[in-house]
Amino acid sequence: MYKNILVPVAYDHDHSDLQPLEVVRLLADAGARVTLLHVMDEVPNYAISYMPEDFRIKAREAIYRDLEARASAIPGCEARVIDGTPGSTILDFAGEHGVDLIVIASHRPGMRDYFLGSTAARVVRHADCAVHVLR
Ligand code: ADP
Repeated sequence: MYKNILVPVAYDHDHSDLQPLEVVRLLADAGARVTLLHVMDEVPNYAISYMPEDFRIKAREAIYRDLEARASAIPGCEARVIDGTPGSTILDFAGEHGVDLIVIASHRPGMRDYFLGSTAARVVRHADCAVHVLR
């Protein structure tokens, strides 16, 4: 059904959720391009001074390794880690790369307070392509 699928992945708590990839398998055309994307949130300057110097580099490497391992289970799937604000960065990435489907969870792992999390809500409201929301 879809040729270019974006799967935004959050790393706040438990990140063992494989459900989005099962949906991708069902909705992807043969030969579809799939991107697993994590957006590394900006850290305020006052917080950076309390962190080890290489904290961000190590976090980025660990996240990239995990995304790549997940990506390897799906043909044509690549991992990306980008700095920015999650909602707008996901939308920009989708627009700039011709994404035709975003598969997103309704909340970050471990959080269930609202009907739809703030990043997911922004993506649903503003995306130019189809959005599949997992609950
Ligand atoms: P909540 O506000 O309940 O924490 P979010 O809307 O932030 O929920 O998260 C819902 C989904 O949005 C996540 O499961 C993930 O798919 C995506 N998402 C949230 N933050 C990021 C991020 N930093 N990078 C990539 N995807 C994210």
